[in-house]
Amino acid sequence: MNNAHPGLPDFVEYVKPASLEEASKFLVAHAGESRPFLGATDCIVRMRDGIWKTKYLVDVKGLDGTNQITFDPAVGLTIGAAVPMNKVAAHPAVIKHYPLLAEACHWVASYQLRSRATIVGNICNASPAGDTIGASMLLEGVLRVFGPDGYRDEPLNGFFKGPGRTNLKPGDIAVSVSFPLPPQGNSGRYIKLGRNKLGDLAIVGVTAFGYPDSSAASGYRFRIALASVAPIPLRVPKAEELLASKPIDEAVLAEAAQLAYESCTPIDDVRGSARYRKQMVRNLTRNALVDIWSKIRKDA
Ligand SMILES: Cc1cc2nc3c(=O)[nH]c(=O)nc-3n(C[C@H](O)[C@H](O)[C@H](O)COP(=O)(O)OP(=O)(O)OC[C@H]3O[C@@H](n4cnc5c(N)ncnc54)[C@H](O)[C@@H]3O)c2cc1C
Repeated sequence: MNNAHPGLPDFVEYVKPASLEEASKFLVAHAGESRPFLGATDCIVRMRDGIWKTKYLVDVKGLDGTNQITFDPAVGLTIGAAVPMNKVAAHPAVIKHYPLLAEACHWVASYQLRSRATIVGNICNASPAGDTIGASMLLEGVLRVFGPDGYRDEPLNGFFKGPGRTNLKPGDIAVSVSFPLPPQGNSGRYIKLGRNKLGDLAIVGVTAFGYPDSSAASGYRFRIALASVAPIPLRVPKAEELLASKPIDEAVLAEAAQLAYESCTPIDDVRGSARYRKQMVRNLTRNALVDIWSKIRKDA
């Protein structure tokens, strides 16, 4: 019988570069056999299970501001790549201005794991089940990347290409993720359906975010992202357009949830069947939208 957890190979080498430039050059020179890491909560498990044959683990924590969180009301929030989720979720500016991000962090595994795991690691790992990716997309997150050609910005909407695949190339190192100040009067929700309450990857995850906007025909805009129901974290533009264009009531919220149901393409796996996942997308999207609507509607 195959051992599903063959154990870490003996020959992994730990590399601690002194600069981003050095790290990037090393990753290019050893493309295919090296990886950058932060909390390593994904890396170690993948290597232990024999899924990744990584020879060099390149520690990028602490390089060029990756350990810092900064907030400026005029610019927004910047979270250094190496900042663990517990620190993000406890930061006063996150609690005040980005509670959706804090809520998403709380749904990742356990407190112990979140003391290592990072949001940027969650994003770069590019699992369709990543709990903090939906909030990061809906809050218009932009990844700052240092690569062989220097710095560039990667907006998260458009960043994901498939399970474990993104716009990142060998030698690219994500150094931070930034968020603009969210619109006034907003509210967000992350609803995760897992197999237990102790921490499990999502069977389905629904992130929704809404705010009043006089430029929309309905007077409001909503954003929706779905986890674990497509090869990439999925936005639902048809539902978002509907909610911007029609006067909002319970029926329109249910119609938007139906569009979410129609847009997702889940698979059967150990966590749940495709059919169950689709039904739950509809139910949880409606629940999230109803909750947000009750908080942002101006006539409430
Ligand atoms: C027991 C357990 C439970 C878990 N439960 C959950 C859960 O409930 N929800 C959830 O979403 N996830 C869960 N995970 C997965 C994991 O903890 C998260 O994805 C976490 O956010 C990864 O962050 P990290 O800093 O540990 O990433 P790492 O493991 O360090 O890296 C993850 C990936 O990103 C790449 N990478 C890392 N740093 C960079 C960088 N600076 N630039 C470019 N690429 C980089 C790595 O090469 C790797 O491919 C769980 C993992 C374990 C072990």
